[in-house]
Amino acid sequence: MPIEHAAIIGAGISGLTAALALSRRGISSEIFEQAGELTDIGAGLQVSPNASCILAELGILEGLSKVWLEPDAIRLISGGSLRQLAAVPAGKFARERWGAPYGVLHRTTLQKALLAAVTADPRCRLHLGVRMVSILPPFERAADVVIGADGVWSKLRQFFPGSPSPRFSGNIAYRFTIAETEAPGFLDRASVSAFLGGSAHLVCYPLRETGSFNMVAITAGNIAPQAWQSEPTAEQRAQLRARFSGWNAAIVSLLDRNRKLTFWPLFETTSGAWQDGRKTVLIGDAAHAMMPFAAQGAAMAIEDAYELAAFLSNRPVAEALALFERHRAPRIARLRQRGAFNRFAYHAKGPIRIGRDLVLGLKPPLSLAADLDWIYGYRAADLR
Ligand SMILES: Cc1cc2nc3c(=O)[nH]c(=O)nc-3n(C[C@H](O)[C@H](O)[C@H](O)COP(=O)(O)OP(=O)(O)OC[C@H]3O[C@@H](n4cnc5c(N)ncnc54)[C@H](O)[C@@H]3O)c2cc1C
Repeated sequence: MPIEHAAIIGAGISGLTAALALSRRGISSEIFEQAGELTDIGAGLQVSPNASCILAELGILEGLSKVWLEPDAIRLISGGSLRQLAAVPAGKFARERWGAPYGVLHRTTLQKALLAAVTADPRCRLHLGVRMVSILPPFERAADVVIGADGVWSKLRQFFPGSPSPRFSGNIAYRFTIAETEAPGFLDRASVSAFLGGSAHLVCYPLRETGSFNMVAITAGNIAPQAWQSEPTAEQRAQLRARFSGWNAAIVSLLDRNRKLTFWPLFETTSGAWQDGRKTVLIGDAAHAMMPFAAQGAAMAIEDAYELAAFLSNRPVAEALALFERHRAPRIARLRQRGAFNRFAYHAKGPIRIGRDLVLGLKPPLSLAADLDWIYGYRAADLR
């Protein structure tokens, strides 16, 4: 018997996408979000074609593409010399090769677009300011399935044994923004730029909606409080500065100039069960929070939500959940490996760095793009 009604914990990217994807299949949902309102949490997001094709299917891409930027390319640049090491073409090329756009935007822009669609949909009912603690929140209607879309610190995970646990990844993200009018000339206004150096990299891209550059420095680090968006202490700032010593002076002075930094220790989840064999399932970061080295966490949350809805629409719940886990696990595992490889390559030092630069220099853009076909060209179940 296909299901009729779902309970979703968390109104982040995965929870809101799940509500919309279920609704398209005639399944209603109640979403429980701890925050009293969905405010400007997070930073920039790169949305690759494997996710944007789902957003198109759910009817929200058109609005987004009016406000986001489709970068010309994703550039890898030496953090020392500022020389371009390689570039994957995006923009029009992405639309042609991967059949959907590659866009960059603020996370809040995406969340608000999803929220507007959920609010307008009579099959979706959002409860703000309801935090799931040790028991499930009171449902208005009995749910056939309970979906944990409650992020890396998921409470729902604690409801079944063998589920993943969060662990500190050994990496820290420092985020800041620079108004476009104040941005130095070496920041490309039309691309995503990743500046690479030993033990750190710095990702920069313009956010059209805010008129500023999103800047995220990711470094190895060893401080792990459970907090998002806290101000770094003097010691943490000094650690950041040390990671960038020897980098190009223009980048160092940019970091020094920006007093308003946010500090995010990056947590990931261990492997473990994503469903309880009955009616509870985890999606997005709750199931498999990963490092941002492949810029795919939100994209995986969107794919999860869409594919789960597809499976739930035509099978008994327990079967659908088992299929979901079996189907998604190999892709997530491969992406994690790709992220680990990117971390190794981006933060390389000494001879490994020299080898990396040589290999990248020899790779034509088309070959770099072909390496990404399995990520960006992926089509979720029933969009194929
Ligand atoms: C520095 C950085 C850069 C990134 N860049 C990219 C990128 O370019 N591209 C990309 O695809 N991904 C990127 N990601 C990853 C991406 O941000 C996440 O993977 C994605 O936001 C996860 O979405 P989610 O909905 O699963 O979880 P979340 O966004 O964490 O949402 C969980 C929701 O559940 C709610 N909640 C939590 N607990 C409870 C509770 N007990 N009761 C009720 N509600 C609860 C929370 O308030 C929240 O609204 C990046 C991540 C980082 C850290």
